[in-house]
Amino acid sequence: MSRLRDKVAVITGAGMGIGRAIAEIFGAEGAKIVVVDLDQNAGNQTTDEISQAGGTARFFPGDVSQQLDMEEMARFTTDAFGQIDILCANAGIFPEVSLEEMREADWDQVLDVNLKGVFLSVKACLPHLKRRPSPRILVTSSITGNRTGISGLTHYAASKAGINGFIRTAAMELAEYGITVNGVEPGNILTEGMEIQLGQDYIDAQAEAIPMGRMGDPKDIAHAMLFLASDEADYITGQTIVVDGGQILPESKFAL
Ligand code: NAD
Repeated sequence: MSRLRDKVAVITGAGMGIGRAIAEIFGAEGAKIVVVDLDQNAGNQTTDEISQAGGTARFFPGDVSQQLDMEEMARFTTDAFGQIDILCANAGIFPEVSLEEMREADWDQVLDVNLKGVFLSVKACLPHLKRRPSPRILVTSSITGNRTGISGLTHYAASKAGINGFIRTAAMELAEYGITVNGVEPGNILTEGMEIQLGQDYIDAQAEAIPMGRMGDPKDIAHAMLFLASDEADYITGQTIVVDGGQILPESKFAL
């Protein structure tokens, strides 16, 4: 379990859900982890769990939508560990609101966290990534907006489609530094956020639409991220991997 030995990985939104699973698996593979999250308790819990499992982790409390926070996060990481090899821009929110009821503030909040947060965290880490031998930028995208649509999440879908455009274009610009930029598009993954923000009715309906017959586990996403972070993925850039239990495949309910 040492595929990321001697690497330093920053993971945003790692206090819970998918981000926590990525932090735990990267930590178990030998990377030193900086957990970035708005939620102090959740962030501390992730770092404690990594430490208890024998890994090394520090918590940075910060908001990915704030430029100063992200600049401070990069300083904190290099002060603590001297380098940044991997940035996993994972933090995201998915509050449901219909297009008719959506206010400008709703739109801005989702775009600021989900899309601007990717830009700001990449921008802050970039000078440090450029100095490393096999630097990686990983982004948690979504099938929503890229392969599928769902009512109540137009702002979210737009943010995730924007992420895929960002991935392709950043990959072009950063290839000269050997930095690869890739993402994972999760399907429906059972996380705290999913339970709190979308609720049980949503979860039950989604589970019925998945050919593999189950919701995803955060570890399903973390393992795809681990592959993209590993040396084996050195020649892959500008791509996303769909991890959804086959959810985007059926042409109709009948096909299921
Ligand atoms: P979650 O709500 O369980 O966890 C998200 C974490 O991000 C929380 O700890 C939260 O405190 C933190 N966070 C939120 N806003 C932040 C901010 N501004 N700055 C820093 N941290 C912040 O969510 P999740 O389900 O694990 O989702 C993680 C990512 O995966 C998101 O980008 C989401 O859009 C994406 N995703 C999730 C699913 C799913 O089914 N759960 C599907 C597709 C994509």
